[in-house]
Amino acid sequence: MTARVLDGQALARTMQDEIRPDVAAFTAQHGRPPGLGIVLVGNDPASEVYVRGKVKAGTDIGFRVDLERLPASATLAETLALVERLNQSDVHDGILVQSPLPKAMGASAEQHVFDTIAPDKDVDGLTPVNVGLLVQKRAPLVACTPSGIIELLDREKIPIAGRHAVVIGRSEIVGKPIALLLLHRDATVTICHSRTPNLAETCSQADILVAAVGRAGLVTKAFVKPGAAVIDVGMNTVTDPALAQSLFAEGHPRLGVFRSKGSVLVGDVHPEVADVAGALTPVPGGVGPLTITMLMKNTLRAARARAGQPVG
Ligand code: NAP
Repeated sequence: MTARVLDGQALARTMQDEIRPDVAAFTAQHGRPPGLGIVLVGNDPASEVYVRGKVKAGTDIGFRVDLERLPASATLAETLALVERLNQSDVHDGILVQSPLPKAMGASAEQHVFDTIAPDKDVDGLTPVNVGLLVQKRAPLVACTPSGIIELLDREKIPIAGRHAVVIGRSEIVGKPIALLLLHRDATVTICHSRTPNLAETCSQADILVAAVGRAGLVTKAFVKPGAAVIDVGMNTVTDPALAQSLFAEGHPRLGVFRSKGSVLVGDVHPEVADVAGALTPVPGGVGPLTITMLMKNTLRAARARAGQPVG
């Protein structure tokens, strides 16, 4: 079997075309576009890439996207003050603080900063208010990667209700919220993590397997029930030639990419899984573009809610 490719890039384009007229209508009605403020502290290379993608996608669709930068030496107090300014801003409907914050800011800095975002502008769905509402299945703003995965499953007509979903990873941003969303859609959900024994055996019972770990090629054929839908959230930059060779057979185009660039972006799912799975998201071009698109959808929802309109 060769797995059906779940093309997140194509779906992201479709969804962006769908919301473009709604963004234009909001702009015409309110005399300003829906606005997103992105806070980037420091210059982590991966964060720079993610933020660039968000600014470009948002601007292309018609949003106002302001990148608010602070140097890596910024203090927690300075970061909180910036978030407070965006909380008070009339032109910003959504606030996204790019993770990770510099380590020097302290272990609890990120939580402190997220806790400060006004819940009605929390387009990443990370504030305690929105997480609590998510648990109760009534969150107005849900974390972008998990909601993008549900959108993909729905549009690809992959049934969720009554299925066994296994999620590897229990982070606040991906693992826990996707597990809750799948539960709310009547899947039977198992959450695995670094202390889960017999990981492959547990995963091999899944009809829907979501890998959100951050370890290149962790999910091999042994993890996958034939015909399962496999959602690869991982984004790992491989620079080790031995690892690249263990993932891609000689002659594979991605090995060519590795050899010419010295690195290659891969997911948590080993390419051999395509022989067993029924459907599989590629990396790149799977979950990543949907995350950005859901960020824009959330910003439009936040803008409408703040303007007293139905969120749609
Ligand atoms: P994270 O906060 O580091 O969480 C990783 C999770 O994986 C943890 O729960 C950890 O378990 C678990 N884990 C680690 N090693 C494991 C192992 N050997 N077996 C089973 N579980 C293991 O990561 P994250 O923020 O959720 O991100 C996960 C991956 O998704 C990363 O590659 C990230 O870059 C990517 N990502 C992609 C997007 C996108 O838009 N495509 C968005 C967000 C994240 P413990 O809790 O026990 O430590």
